[in-house]
Amino acid sequence: MSKVAQYLQEHLNGEVLRTPAIRKYFSTDGSVFEVMPSLVVYPRDEDDVRKTARFTWQLAERGRVIPITARGMGTDQGGAAVGSGIMITFPAHMNRLLEYDHKTSNVTIEPGINYGKLQQALHMHKRFLPPFPSSIEYCSVGGAIANNAGGEKTYKYGSTRNFIKSLRVVLANGEVIETKRLSKRELNKKMGLTTFEGEIYRSLDALLEENKEAIQGMKLDVTKNSAGYDLMDIKRKDGSFDLTPLIVGSQGTLGIVTEATITTAPYNPNTTLIAAFFEDLHVAEHAIEEIKKLPDGPSAMELVDDNLLKFIDEHNPNQLKGIVKKPFHKLIVLIEFDNMNDRTQKKMSKRTTKILKKLEVPYQIETDEYEIEQLWKIRHSAAAVISQSEGKSKALPIVEDGIVPSEKFNDYITGVYEIFDKYKLKIALWGHAGNANIHMQPFLDLSQVGDRQKVFKILEEYYTMVIGMGGSTSGEHSDGRLRAPFLKRLYGDDIYGVFQKVKLIFDPHGTMNPGVKIDVTLDDIKPLLRHEYGMEHLGHHLPRS
Ligand SMILES: Cc1cc2nc3c(=O)[nH]c(=O)nc-3n(C[C@H](O)[C@H](O)[C@H](O)COP(=O)(O)OP(=O)(O)OC[C@H]3O[C@@H](n4cnc5c(N)ncnc54)[C@H](O)[C@@H]3O)c2cc1C
Repeated sequence: MSKVAQYLQEHLNGEVLRTPAIRKYFSTDGSVFEVMPSLVVYPRDEDDVRKTARFTWQLAERGRVIPITARGMGTDQGGAAVGSGIMITFPAHMNRLLEYDHKTSNVTIEPGINYGKLQQALHMHKRFLPPFPSSIEYCSVGGAIANNAGGEKTYKYGSTRNFIKSLRVVLANGEVIETKRLSKRELNKKMGLTTFEGEIYRSLDALLEENKEAIQGMKLDVTKNSAGYDLMDIKRKDGSFDLTPLIVGSQGTLGIVTEATITTAPYNPNTTLIAAFFEDLHVAEHAIEEIKKLPDGPSAMELVDDNLLKFIDEHNPNQLKGIVKKPFHKLIVLIEFDNMNDRTQKKMSKRTTKILKKLEVPYQIETDEYEIEQLWKIRHSAAAVISQSEGKSKALPIVEDGIVPSEKFNDYITGVYEIFDKYKLKIALWGHAGNANIHMQPFLDLSQVGDRQKVFKILEEYYTMVIGMGGSTSGEHSDGRLRAPFLKRLYGDDIYGVFQKVKLIFDPHGTMNPGVKIDVTLDDIKPLLRHEYGMEHLGHHLPRS
């Protein structure tokens, strides 16, 4: 590998490092897995990315496959940001906001830009990027694009995919393409190209046509979905064609994003926040369904359960002091309205409180900025679980992103409690009530054989339950290595077969983040399980939730 490093250093503007310390640092991400990269590249520009891909392609043609894993801030919780070959990491240099278009309010960025910084810049223009993840302060926008990330506002605004207009992508062979929606005529022109890009358009179009019916039937009954590849939004009935929705959520397995143009939404800092306190999960499910029927619905519906509140009370009692009273309610749901029109916001909040009153659910309503911030602390306190430990046990991201049809919300939560009861593990829940997408991280000690076995038993039971309910294994964090073994079960053999063919079209030599998303079994990931979990590389900016 030293020859590879030497070649790259001679040809790239950015740095190439391969000391044991740097490789160790990049051998983990936010997941429970560990894979040591051979070397780390810090590209200064697109040309560096292009040359790296071109080089690995040429080696692969001669039979030597060196994987490339693109990396943002490495907060990925499914193990998609670790890999055994070249780690190509964007935040160091390719982190600029390139353009804000005052006419369209679109923003063009490099992938390594910090999401929180971008959001601050957009706020100055009274705009924002709504699908921000709760890791906003310390993740990159490139990582969010690659994961099709979502967050508290996704309930109203949708996931990242809805906001990406166009991308510049370095393909496996080093060619650079620009993706955007193409008319039928433009598509024909692309298909006539003699390049790898032309080959991709031709093969993909044929594949989509051959599997039209299966693809039409692949939509799951959930309000957001980051599992697998999005095959449904590429080709539309009018014959137009866009690779953008496919690349978004593909986790660096099809190509590497070097630039993105993103639409933004009007930002209203004057919101109304209602905290609803539930004792009964059935009542909560019913209330959420009723609130969802409002014509100008909430911008967020977020939940925490009493186990989370008890955990905070035990480990960090000052955090929610004066905000939540004891005894804790079974479930707290925060319902936010951000309607631009004040009257609409008031009207919708009033109709929400009417629903709650009718169901005899106690609530608190706030419009004052400070009080709202206090209430949001209830939801954002989930960060404490992630950064705490119980003895040698750590909160592990192993089953943290399932989403189910909204009418299964109650069954889902009950089912989760049952699984963890069986293993005598306490479990705290938080997440997105409006989407029936919840997060949880059980405390386990990865140095213990018994707990390591439990990881895989819990994985199996949890994802079997989610798939059985007609849900998706990932609402927002995507498959990575962790959920990839369940993709075939989730979508069935036919669609999974199409996924494999898509991967082969873009990545015939298997250099683009292999071991992630496609062709991954539980036996593949078992040896990668760390012996001690931690997010040391995020230590200087603790998680927000
Ligand atoms: C505490 C915590 C809370 C979180 N909350 C959320 C949440 O609310 N919603 C959510 O969706 N996720 C969440 N995540 C997961 C993760 O933080 C986000 O998905 C985030 O957007 C990933 O960004 P990153 O820069 O860390 O990407 P990384 O972890 O570095 O990479 C993620 C994926 O993107 C790929 N990638 C990175 N850059 C590129 C590129 N330029 N081209 C192609 N592929 C690329 C990587 O190969 C990898 O597959 C959370 C994680 C933590 C630790």
